[in-house]
Amino acid sequence: MGQAGNRWAVVMLLCVLSLLATTALASSRDLESGWEYRWGDSPRLADGTPAWIQPGKDEAWHAIGFPSNPPHREGRHHAWFRVTLPEGDWRDPVLYVYSIDLIAEAYLDGKRIYRHGAFDTAGEGRFAGWPWHMIPLPTDAAGHQLYFRVYSNYTDIGLWGEIKLMERADLLGYILKHSASAMVVSPLCLLLALLAGIFAVIQANRRSFAAIALFGLAAGTMILAESQASQLLLDAPLLWDFLAAGGYYTLPIALGLLLEHWFAKTRPRLIRRIWQAHLAYLVAALGAAGLGWIDLAITFPVFDALLVASLALLMAAIAPRLHRLEGRQRAILATFALFGALLLADMAVAHGLLPWTRIPVSVGALVFALAIVVISLLDYAHTQRDLKRLNQRLEAEVSARTQQLQTLVERLETYSYTDPLTGLHNRRYFDELLQHEARQAQREFTPLALAMIDIDHFKRVNDRHGHEAGDRVLAGVATILNDHFRDADVVCRLGGEEFVVLLPGADADTARNRLETLMTQLAGRVYWHGERMLGPVTISCGIAVYPTHSTSPMALAGLADRALYAAKQGGRARVAVYA
Ligand code: GH3
Ligand code: MG
Ligand code: MG
Repeated sequence: MGQAGNRWAVVMLLCVLSLLATTALASSRDLESGWEYRWGDSPRLADGTPAWIQPGKDEAWHAIGFPSNPPHREGRHHAWFRVTLPEGDWRDPVLYVYSIDLIAEAYLDGKRIYRHGAFDTAGEGRFAGWPWHMIPLPTDAAGHQLYFRVYSNYTDIGLWGEIKLMERADLLGYILKHSASAMVVSPLCLLLALLAGIFAVIQANRRSFAAIALFGLAAGTMILAESQASQLLLDAPLLWDFLAAGGYYTLPIALGLLLEHWFAKTRPRLIRRIWQAHLAYLVAALGAAGLGWIDLAITFPVFDALLVASLALLMAAIAPRLHRLEGRQRAILATFALFGALLLADMAVAHGLLPWTRIPVSVGALVFALAIVVISLLDYAHTQRDLKRLNQRLEAEVSARTQQLQTLVERLETYSYTDPLTGLHNRRYFDELLQHEARQAQREFTPLALAMIDIDHFKRVNDRHGHEAGDRVLAGVATILNDHFRDADVVCRLGGEEFVVLLPGADADTARNRLETLMTQLAGRVYWHGERMLGPVTISCGIAVYPTHSTSPMALAGLADRALYAAKQGGRARVAVYA
């Protein structure tokens, strides 16, 4: 890992340096004319060397501009090519070949000087990847004929791309120069994949980010694997081609997932079928090639055909729905169209439909990836802002509702006549009851007694045992009060530790008697708060009676209060009748 990382850094650095260096190609020379070809494979001489590597004129050889795909192939898998090496002042010459379909041997001066892939006794062999080739040549090779023996069961046969004579030292710079953009774009795509992957885990918009992560991974892998510099990182051409295929074949899957997500509302069955077909192809092609059932090479043209069909179908599926997309999504699609066009152009070059040239596929991927990054970030910012707004609105709504509820509860409370702690009637009830009983007493000329009750030194109970214990005592006293008085009498809690009792029909003596017996009852009572014993407590009581003390029953409360005050003044734990 560390070693690979170091190598990567070195290759990156060299890429940048070679971009800066402009002298690298001063002494290279194209070898893209003056070739001859011959179909079939050469018989062997007694010493094992091929019979066809004899120099000189021979009717069997035909001229060809570039040593690739000679005419009239007619299903043949073998071809030979030869060229006379030009004059030149070389120190350490090499022949650089962009790639070969599919395996080959090179001969010079009666000797084999290079081999790519392995020929069996029948002159056949397996696909060995599409690396670039550096064939070392002797310094005095000018004027000598260089032969290539080629085997290919692929759609193409021969050398491919570009063929140059150059100094060994210059070749490295040349390779790096042409890999520079890929060595920058590929890590960017992989970084994008990582970030999108993280977003896919932590964000709500999972599928979209997962598709973007997959795309970044596929594009980054493909671009790295297809770059010529990858061979400098690791000399394993077949492995790189597997990685390139994996990345390439995954692109339409990722794109399909993204589009399916975007068009989710319109039930995009076709889009799903398309990416599923590509997934099936990816698994089948790489599986079969990995198991050695087929050559990996042959899976590329099949994929290309599938991709062209898919892109056409996707366009047909998307075009009528384009208006449904947001501006941002359309921008992404536009950049993908550019990327797709570059992929198609690259494909056309690979299949000889366009003259050989390097198509900047990685630049297309970069533009597309950058568009996704920018738009995802915008999207993220929008989502965050919307979320914030939504949050604020929700909060406002909740607080408004809470307020409504609060007023509702308050209103309900004012309608209530019961004290929640003791279960006795409350002050509100008492006020209405007093009016009613006052009218009744006046109408029927019956007495009405009112007793104010206040617990003595109740504050101490709270102070010593806590408020909760105080509540227990309050509730306990209230129960005793309630049980003690007749049904006709009404006990209310006025608030705090103050109670009031209305005794219709009772005169002062009756009232005093009832309250004094209450006191004796209370004197022996204790209250429990959990394990703790509280009390007993005493009460003070003030009594006023209609019509004895006032001609207005409504005045009784004030008079009883004064009597209560007197009882407290007199030493508490006593009943005082208004005087
Ligand atoms: P006094 O004999 O002069 O009446 O003395 P007191 O301590 O009973 O009277 P004071 O008015 O000084 O204190 C009354 C205390 O009753 C103060 C208050 O904390 C307490 N209290 C009022 N309402 C409640 C209640 O609902 N629960 C509890 N636990 N305590 C209450
Ligand atoms: Mg009090
Ligand atoms: Mg009190």
